[in-house]
Amino acid sequence: LGMFDQLSSALTEVAQNFGGKQRMTENSIQPALKSVRRALLDADVNLEVATALLDGVKRRSLGMEVTKGVTAEQQFVKAMYDELLDMMGGDADSGGAMGGNPSLQSPTATLAYKEGSDPAVILLAGLQGAGKTTAAGKLALYLKEREVDSTALDLMSEEERSQTLASRMPKRNRKVLLAAADVYRPAAIEQLQILGKSIDVEVFSMGTDEDPANIAKAAVEKAKNEGFDTVIVDTAGRQVVDEDLMEELRRVKKSVSPDETLLVVDAMTGQAAASLTASFDSAVGISGAILTKLDGDSRGGAAVSIRGVSGKPIKFVGVGEKTAELEPFFPDRMASRILG
Ligand code: GDP
Repeated sequence: LGMFDQLSSALTEVAQNFGGKQRMTENSIQPALKSVRRALLDADVNLEVATALLDGVKRRSLGMEVTKGVTAEQQFVKAMYDELLDMMGGDADSGGAMGGNPSLQSPTATLAYKEGSDPAVILLAGLQGAGKTTAAGKLALYLKEREVDSTALDLMSEEERSQTLASRMPKRNRKVLLAAADVYRPAAIEQLQILGKSIDVEVFSMGTDEDPANIAKAAVEKAKNEGFDTVIVDTAGRQVVDEDLMEELRRVKKSVSPDETLLVVDAMTGQAAASLTASFDSAVGISGAILTKLDGDSRGGAAVSIRGVSGKPIKFVGVGEKTAELEPFFPDRMASRILG
């Protein structure tokens, strides 16, 4: 994948330094920590996050006795894996009634689902070009599709089952309404309508002359009256973070009290994605992030840094331009991928 190429070679270096010792010492892990640090910073991981990670790895490594049959190198990699997992929210609860699929390994992707007459409302925010409109369509498709239940898994062939579990796309069978509240670019509304049509999801729009807060409110009202259980609101993006954008988001948020406010951020921006998440959170209050373009040649810094910098979990990742190319975020899977 290449996101952390340097990290894999740093870890190979580690083996030589331990030279078959039974216990890792301050001295024996120093060179390893140094190479790992360089690799993390090269991958555009935020400095404080990298430092915290390394402190954790050091603490864990020094406390470990090397068990029989396991090399010091393997132990070091395990310490690294555990720290990455913690840093990305691997300790988060698995959701259960909130929409997690207990038969699959726990993702951070739990999205509110409400029983009764009120639809769950998901607000999407983000800078222009981050992939927000695409993410709205992807999320609608994800929530619309039927959940994979254990009976279905039982009926699958070995290969189908492992593919399904590998793609880990628990499906939900929801009735979703998309709301076009980006009133500054007529093209954005049209883009959402085309997307909606392609996945057979209705798109609610009031054109460009209406206040976004009113559009969102009217969409939720429509959803209530017509039996939609989930509303995804696509809000305006801007080139830069500005007070107008934040103020508008606060107003939209106030008008519909969303269950989730997700910031869509571009993985290609590296650790800047993490500081962006933190500033949106302090200005508007968000519940998590959708990290897009993870299929591109990003250096991985965003995935590792977002939660450490902002305190907010990544809930989904975009892995391509197609509407089906959205996956719940699994910290364990990402940690394995990073370690190569
Ligand atoms: P918005 O301005 O934030 O609404 O951004 P768009 O949804 O219009 O997306 C901007 C560009 O990024 C489009 O060309 C999308 O096809 C592309 N894009 C969005 N998500 C992904 C992704 O996960 N992977 C890749 N490779 N491209 C993406």
